Amino acid sequence: MKDSAVEVQNLSVRFGDFTAVDSISFAVRRGEVFGFLGANGAGKTTTIRVLCGLLRPSAGYGSVAGVALDAGEMAIKARVGYMSQKFTLYDDLTVEENLSFIAGLRKLDPAVYAKRRDSILAFITFQRPLNALIRDLPGGIKQQVALAASILHDPEVVFLDEPTAGVTPAARSRFWALIRDLARQGKTIFVTTHYMDEAEQCDRIALMRAGQIVALDTPARLKAEVFPEQLFELEAVSPVHYGDMDGLRDHPDVAFFEPYGMRFHVALRKTVGGENLRRELASRFRVQAISPTLEDVFIRTVEGERR
Ligand code: ATP
Repeated sequence: MKDSAVEVQNLSVRFGDFTAVDSISFAVRRGEVFGFLGANGAGKTTTIRVLCGLLRPSAGYGSVAGVALDAGEMAIKARVGYMSQKFTLYDDLTVEENLSFIAGLRKLDPAVYAKRRDSILAFITFQRPLNALIRDLPGGIKQQVALAASILHDPEVVFLDEPTAGVTPAARSRFWALIRDLARQGKTIFVTTHYMDEAEQCDRIALMRAGQIVALDTPARLKAEVFPEQLFELEAVSPVHYGDMDGLRDHPDVAFFEPYGMRFHVALRKTVGGENLRRELASRFRVQAISPTLEDVFIRTVEGERR
């Protein structure tokens, strides 16, 4: 596909007998914000490591920014930026020292580096001295400097592995504004997150479970595809024990059941039995028809369908 920034066909990664990535295929368009979601250990980081040229796949093929995965590590690394899950800057070096060190690794010409540094720091609206130590920066600013470092060499595709883990909601929101800006500038963003409000901001999302991609679409279409039934929120009018809800959870006309505190999301099949059940529930709960959230989608697809 000509417009693909990332393309993967039947990609697998095995560690000994264990298959971490199990024959996945997908394509990411240029300029797209592509979310990669899954439970811990689903294979997201392993896939990213392959796409950044850090790990050779056991099977399958693909390309990143037009470079085949088997073209060699250096060819891929020149075109991708990578912000790994673990914090990637040196805490005891200054912002300038970190960036110039990375520029050196990337073999950037000093004049090109100075220009890129200034424009990227302006992009993230960095307002502190360049000689500030990384360890003295607030978490959200550190993440932004890490992002700056990952795009210093002007890559076409940027891989962000849980970039906002552990920062404040305000800093997460600011970081996502930067992600959207980068996409508007034509960069392709490949991002993993455990936050559903962030996933909601992706153009498309792939949901991964046990090494496989189990669903892939826009957030809106995923909700419609994963929930063909009508979803209701039940709110208990008096305290209920979860154990009392077992009958409902196991009811043949209940396609999905998930407690959220004292509220329950319940998908009822569009059957006569489902309609009768809805009437019966209305006598015990406040019942409201709702649209599924991405959290519902995640629970149903990634954590396994309840029924
Ligand atoms: P998380 O959200 O926790 O980062 P993930 O979806 O990124 O999870 P991966 O880090 O890709 O998951 O790991 C997928 C599986 O592969 C896990 O079971 C992990 O233990 C295993 N794995 C990863 N790297 C190796 C390795 N080098 N050797 C053996 N097993 C590995």
